[in-house]
Amino acid sequence: MLGKMSYMVHLRLAGEVEESVPVQTAFSVGKIQVSLRKKGRTKWTDLGQALDFHNTFVLKKERAPHYCDGVLVSKTEVNHNTLIFRVKLPPGTIRHVPVGRHVYLKALVEDAELVRPYTPVDQSLTASPQETDLFLMVKVYPDGVFSSYLSALHIVENPGDRVLVSGPEGAFSLRPLRDVTHLYLLAAGTGLTPMTRLISLATQEMENISRKTTLLFFNRGEEDILWRGELDQLA
Ligand SMILES: Cc1cc2nc3c(=O)[nH]c(=O)nc-3n(C[C@H](O)[C@H](O)[C@H](O)COP(=O)(O)OP(=O)(O)OC[C@H]3O[C@@H](n4cnc5c(N)ncnc54)[C@H](O)[C@@H]3O)c2cc1C
Repeated sequence: MLGKMSYMVHLRLAGEVEESVPVQTAFSVGKIQVSLRKKGRTKWTDLGQALDFHNTFVLKKERAPHYCDGVLVSKTEVNHNTLIFRVKLPPGTIRHVPVGRHVYLKALVEDAELVRPYTPVDQSLTASPQETDLFLMVKVYPDGVFSSYLSALHIVENPGDRVLVSGPEGAFSLRPLRDVTHLYLLAAGTGLTPMTRLISLATQEMENISRKTTLLFFNRGEEDILWRGELDQLA
């Protein structure tokens, strides 16, 4: 993503690559590094065959979200009304969601196609972000159409129930935070989700920068505080 534009790399690679594809973003210079590791020892003379729109800039609003089939592999309770849904994407799919961006989940609920945005979190506040599954922390509203639907999905050994997952969306940029020396984060309820990865970034990757991070986290009651133990440990 470059402002209002998105840059498309669309190739049929010359050979097979390993499934684990680390993606690193250097937010200070706007560089994205995608590391592909060849499976065989063969020599490639080029990267492969260019496909539709390869090496082009497309206006972001003209690019419809691309959905892939996610399988629900676990549901973990965070508190009395919030769960973490772990969603596995099809083999070979790498869905790197930059910090502060969200994905759309889409499903057919009572014959209506419903779409809701959710912001992926890491497995924990101190987890390494290299996991290829998506972790979504979702508050289940008893009368909320989509969140109730999600909480009723089954984790069957193989395969679990499915939900469609879009690519990353949103416009949040880390760039303005570069020179910030005191980062104040304000969140309420599941509004914590975009903050979680910012907190780990601020406390781990940017620890060499002299920076203070303060989270103001608003909740109805103590029992609603998400990841309270983890936040206390970091404080
Ligand atoms: C960018 C973004 C990221 C998000 N990330 C997350 C996340 O990480 N985790 C998370 O849990 N949520 C997140 N959300 C919120 C999420 O997208 C859904 O809005 C939420 O899950 C509720 O959806 P639902 O279908 O269950 O509820 P809905 O059916 O949409 O209802 C939600 C609540 O509003 C009430 N309501 C619905 N319609 C009306 C109405 N007309 N008048 C009055 N009350 C009404 C319902 O009774 C219910 O209590 C995010 C939202 C945005 C915009």
